[in-house]
Amino acid sequence: MTFRSTPCLPSCRRLWPKLPWQNEALAEALERRFPYPVAVFSRGSAATWGERWYGAGQHAQNMLYVRVGKGLVAGLVINGQPYLGQGFGAGELGHMTVQPDGALCRCGNRGCLATVATTDALLNRIRQLLREQPDNPLWGAVSYHLESLRLADVLDAVAAGNELALQALHEIAAWLSIALAAAINLLNLDMIIIGGPLLAAGDALLQPLHANLYQRALPTHLARVQVVASTLREDAPSVGAAGLILHELMSPAPLPIALGSLADKAGFLTPVVL
Ligand SMILES: [Zn+2]
Repeated sequence: MTFRSTPCLPSCRRLWPKLPWQNEALAEALERRFPYPVAVFSRGSAATWGERWYGAGQHAQNMLYVRVGKGLVAGLVINGQPYLGQGFGAGELGHMTVQPDGALCRCGNRGCLATVATTDALLNRIRQLLREQPDNPLWGAVSYHLESLRLADVLDAVAAGNELALQALHEIAAWLSIALAAAINLLNLDMIIIGGPLLAAGDALLQPLHANLYQRALPTHLARVQVVASTLREDAPSVGAAGLILHELMSPAPLPIALGSLADKAGFLTPVVL
């Protein structure tokens, strides 16, 4: 998140491996193209606040939001307030090591959660499994071209009870549970909200996730945490970004995340979610 007075957060510069830019003042660059002030939010932070204000987390005080899609982003609410970290880089759950000698992550580390628990990781795992099962019905769904496998094909197979697709989804749930159990034990959360495209798998994802958490998290902590589905779904980042701006402009008690007073800005502030 950045405002005009602060060109870019440290996290934008150093901790955003998804983007190929270094030391770019993104908000200022966008402001040169558009006639409005611009605020840039991370998708994880924006979605977290969407869910906290308008979604599944409206009563949560200590909450983790996790979005599982092509990447894996997260955001935290601690004691009812956003927790962004010293350098605004909190929530990089995707770069928690879950497999010490695992695949190389784009961040440079090996075995990050993001290498095994994203929709791309799911598709690659299913392609791998399909090579061992030439009679699986999924071959027909992709016309015998593994590269044409899409998430929608997998979700259809899951809905049809395809054991191979269910196995791959259970593996993703197991990887996720390692990071989420660590978060539960460390932070004694009262809610974890799972969102993003993979949530379309529904209980086929959430049930094995719950089962794995029972194995890994401390029972005392697990008893106090709800692990639930996002209610805003794919709208969570945009709803949260709009809500953050409205809150900063209209609330008598703005959140402690603004780096400058938005009320000083003339005209509209345009939220951009990355
Ligand atoms: Zn990584």
